[in-house]
Amino acid sequence: MQNFKVSNNDFSFKSTTHGYKLVFCGSTYVKKTELPEIPIDYFNILGLASIADGKFQPNVLVDVVRGVTEILQTQINSDNNKSKFVFMITDMSKIVVQCTLWGNFALQFYEYYKNHGEDVNIVVLLQNARIKAAQGGFPLNVSNAWSGTKLIINDISNVEIKKLKDSLNAELPKLSSSSLQVETTQTSQYSDFDKFIWKAEVISLAEIAMLKQETTCVTIAKLEKFEVGNSGWYYDGCAECTKSVAVKDGKLKCYANHISSEPVPRYKLEVLGVDGKFKSHFVFWDSDCFKLIGKSALQMKNELVEAGEDNPLEFPFGLDAMLKKELAIRAVFQPKFNRLSVISFKDDEDSRKKVKDTFKSHEDVSKIPISLSSSQDDMKSLSEPLSVSADFDPNAANSVMTPCKRINPEASEDVESVQLSSTKTMKPVKKEDGR
Ligand SMILES: [Zn+2]
Repeated sequence: MQNFKVSNNDFSFKSTTHGYKLVFCGSTYVKKTELPEIPIDYFNILGLASIADGKFQPNVLVDVVRGVTEILQTQINSDNNKSKFVFMITDMSKIVVQCTLWGNFALQFYEYYKNHGEDVNIVVLLQNARIKAAQGGFPLNVSNAWSGTKLIINDISNVEIKKLKDSLNAELPKLSSSSLQVETTQTSQYSDFDKFIWKAEVISLAEIAMLKQETTCVTIAKLEKFEVGNSGWYYDGCAECTKSVAVKDGKLKCYANHISSEPVPRYKLEVLGVDGKFKSHFVFWDSDCFKLIGKSALQMKNELVEAGEDNPLEFPFGLDAMLKKELAIRAVFQPKFNRLSVISFKDDEDSRKKVKDTFKSHEDVSKIPISLSSSQDDMKSLSEPLSVSADFDPNAANSVMTPCKRINPEASEDVESVQLSSTKTMKPVKKEDGR
């Protein structure tokens, strides 16, 4: 090897404790040379006793050759990187150590085991393996490193494996692949809809109204109308991402420090979503609004400018394209803002039906009155006048919302029972007339 650099051996996981490494550069020249005194396969094998006693350096990769006594877990995923193969290795003393193979190494072992595992004993050699001391409930474990590891299984042309096989053959238990239990987690088996409701609470707006903490949920709502705030229908976004931009040091920058020559308008629309007599506030973000409206915010803004509209806060009629639609919506309920921040939505009948069917399965539970501790008689007297004056809003005086008031006693916790009982003596109809 000619023309190379020498630097400190600063790998976070190293296969040698030597203080230096040789680094290839553009002019490095390598020639094959016969040097019989240096073996091609050199193994730095660490015994299980040393591993079990903690006599190893956690950042130095070692070679381990041992017999397999037991398969603990086989998890094969269509995405190779998530495959996992866990087994125990022994040197036939009393020491057994757990070994975990990930990704392609797990697949390599699994394939071998599936094809040869019938009543055979297995010796593995893991070259450049990583050892992790027991920690926080996880046992001492030997595993492959993310790079540089080589796995050799039962190959007796390898001297170390041959040596161990000869000495262990009689004692090592024979493993049978017929007892192999494989957990397959193929991501491809999940449908689009499964992903849509993945790790989310599928609940109706009635149930969402009772949420107290941040929750990812999937629900059904009809988009009734825009909640017009002070910020208009779009914000000034970054040209490279969807974050908002502001002038910093004389330049337009987003939070991620991208520099934009001019801001790109991005939709942010707060919409009142309604399901029967329940309603919630949804915030739809740029890409979902674009899908529902069919025009980018930039396009929409340019059209406004061309039409001579100079008030950027004015809601263009084109936005109405996203209203009156009933959607299945995946969103995060944010108790701090009492709103649902939309992650994605589905507009097809099939998805809506599936979501509604899931609601039905817990309908019985949601019928139980939650916040009313009063007696049955009280409840009857309450629910009567309330359902008659279904248009009554306790906050009618300063409310800008129109239909679908949330006043059913089952509805929510934000209509306190105090308010509910006070409605008995108030004359809601007259108040309504006064508007
Ligand atoms: Zn950006």
